[in-house]
Amino acid sequence: MNTSTNPTIAIIGYGSQGRAHALNLRDSGFDVVVGLRPGGPTEVKALADGFTVKTPAEAAAGADLVAVLTPDMVQKKLYNDVLAANLKPGACLLFAHGLNVHFGMISPRADLDVVLVAPKGPGALVRREYEIGRGVPCIYAMHQDRSGRAEEFAKLYAAGLGGARANLIRTTFKEETETDLFGEQAVLCGGASALVQAGFETLVEAGYQPEIAYYEVLHELKLIVDLFYEGGITRMLEFVSETAQYGDFVSGPRVINAETKARMKDILSEIQDGTFVQRWVAEYDAGLPNYKKFQQADLDHPIEKVGRELRAKMQWLQQNAPQTAATQQDAGQATAKPSTHPIAETA
Ligand code: NDP
Ligand code: MG
Repeated sequence: MNTSTNPTIAIIGYGSQGRAHALNLRDSGFDVVVGLRPGGPTEVKALADGFTVKTPAEAAAGADLVAVLTPDMVQKKLYNDVLAANLKPGACLLFAHGLNVHFGMISPRADLDVVLVAPKGPGALVRREYEIGRGVPCIYAMHQDRSGRAEEFAKLYAAGLGGARANLIRTTFKEETETDLFGEQAVLCGGASALVQAGFETLVEAGYQPEIAYYEVLHELKLIVDLFYEGGITRMLEFVSETAQYGDFVSGPRVINAETKARMKDILSEIQDGTFVQRWVAEYDAGLPNYKKFQQADLDHPIEKVGRELRAKMQWLQQNAPQTAATQQDAGQATAKPSTHPIAETA
């Protein structure tokens, strides 16, 4: 790659996605600067990784392409207060999730190219796959194309992340935003964790040992999901016993049935019509009262206690231990979610 024709890149935010993007793009030959609030907890990490760290305003002012990789809920204020006045004329503004632009919370300056590159995986995986010569598939979109080169920039960036090694799919801000929100709510985070908790509670309430219930409904889920990942449901069916397959066929549809699907459609409608985002913004602006309550309920669920005890016996898990919600809160983050372990992050 000829680096002299590459855009210089500012990565604003050095969390889950920011760190992975900055490292991968630098390794792909791009000139990368990191933009962060001075003295914030992730500044130390970016400096330790060898990056020049500037304020978001300085980083944006010096770059051809500016990637906004802070939490979604701070992006509007960051854009309005800092980026709008500092982005170079004709720069390319890039997002990893279309939420703020799609729902009109950010209205980018008319002279900018505005693009989306969303890796379909958490940041740690984006980095790990790149390091081993593979990549996480990326979807990309253009919201504004003032230069006529917006698609070129999005694809160049996605390739620099390693995404092109897996797959690049063109999408729209609308499609990415709505499918991403639906996936994490109905299936990946919301659906999967509620399924696991309900399965655990059912076994424990029936008098079975919590340790055995944990292995059965949480630990073994990874083995099944790995088979999905490698070869779809076909591969899972090839690997499990006939008894497990028969049980799958007759009982799966009793757990996830037409009513569940109807509720999924309600969830999708509330995403599409903006109800979900409206509620989320109100919750964030109110200081996250319900978010904190719901989060605490998850952290206090009995499956977490037994899980900690059982995982302590699997020493290899400790080497890659994720930052806990508690350590992130100590570090002063507004939202307390794990951010360093691939399987602990959201999509
Ligand atoms: P994180 O929560 O990990 O971002 C934290 C980073 O943002 C820290 O470096 C923090 O700096 C910085 N930050 C927070 N507030 C501000 C601010 N006001 N000004 C400047 N920097 C700030 O974010 P994610 O990586 O999870 O998400 C980034 C984007 O990527 C989002 O749009 C998200 O939807 C999208 N995305 C996320 C995925 C994921 O797996 N997490 C997957 C695909 C897309 P400090 O040290 O100062 O606190
Ligand atoms: Mg998401």
